[in-house]
Amino acid sequence: MHLRPGLSVLWRGPGESQVGVDPRCAVVLDGLTPGDQRVVEHLTRGPTPADLQRVGRAVGVEPERVRELVARLKAAGVLDTRPTRSSWSLAVPDTEESYWSRLRDDGDGAAVLAVRASKRVAVVGLDRVGSFLATFLAMGGVGTLLLDDVSAVTEADLGVFQARDVGGRRATRAVTHLRAAFPRLRTSAPAGTRPDLVVTVSTAVADPLRLRHLRRAAIAHLPVVVGEVAVVVGPLVVPGRGPCTRCLDLHRVDADPAWPALAAQLLTSAPTGTPATLAQLGAALAAHQVLAALDDRTVTVTGATLEVTALDPVPLVRQWAPHPACGCDAPSAPATDPAAATTTPDQAAATTAATTDPAAVGPTSADGEEDGDGEPARADALAPAGSGGRA
Ligand SMILES: [Zn+2]
Repeated sequence: MHLRPGLSVLWRGPGESQVGVDPRCAVVLDGLTPGDQRVVEHLTRGPTPADLQRVGRAVGVEPERVRELVARLKAAGVLDTRPTRSSWSLAVPDTEESYWSRLRDDGDGAAVLAVRASKRVAVVGLDRVGSFLATFLAMGGVGTLLLDDVSAVTEADLGVFQARDVGGRRATRAVTHLRAAFPRLRTSAPAGTRPDLVVTVSTAVADPLRLRHLRRAAIAHLPVVVGEVAVVVGPLVVPGRGPCTRCLDLHRVDADPAWPALAAQLLTSAPTGTPATLAQLGAALAAHQVLAALDDRTVTVTGATLEVTALDPVPLVRQWAPHPACGCDAPSAPATDPAAATTTPDQAAATTAATTDPAAVGPTSADGEEDGDGEPARADALAPAGSGGRA
């Protein structure tokens, strides 16, 4: 038997010991004899029940009292009584497993890792943000990562990429680094494989064609847009539920009728590069939300976006309502944005658009096309919009 991984036994004073520190997983035991405290401390060594009884005898604690102490710790949820812990056998995912073992009611961090190992996530766009994001997902134990980006590594991408990668193909180089660090990571899948989730990382504006293909293929997707100042994560689009990315586009058109023209020009804009801390913050937020979705935990970017800049590490949360003109089958309901008062006028305009529920049908989105136009869904939603590459 052993304590949940990562928990320490701390001596608080005579008769009082504490297991763990964080109130979310710690417990204080009082009324202990010095011998009791020695028995509890021995649990950090992962003893068998017989070992623990031997320690008890050596310090004058009766067998029944040893069993009572074990029962108290078990009831407090700090004891892991499973006979063996499975492991990915890699240091980083094992760290992940330990963390969730401390937090979950059942202490079964291995179950979290088992689910993640069975998942396929595609990351399309491997600039500095995208390459950090892919790395975080591998560290988190995602079993299959399908990386897609045919463009060349530039000096602005360095971080996961190294100087010798400059000029090489982003996806190829990223796969090389990830497989070296995570030998059990799968980076390919049979043709026609549907990913469980696709993350698109793009500069200035999300590629509407790619997003439309994902919507039509009914594949869950999470857009990440690297802007001039901010990285915007979300919303997570789950088939049949809104708002979708087209809803956000329509809200933006409501706030600025020139948006389709601007967006079309931004599609071909050159990447400006992302400062190191912003790239990591944006990538970590996106990876956090992907893992939350895979784990079936609460996903903040369901119907919302997270927006972070290098100025402030605390992201701005914007809630978005489904747009009545979208037709993504989402119930149309007003949303609230308590953070709107802190936004810029332009942002406030977009937020205001999101919080209203106009009766009038809005103009078309930047992609200029309804979803239900009868065009068949692409079989391969990973390689639309002229991008033929997949590692
Ligand atoms: Zn929609």
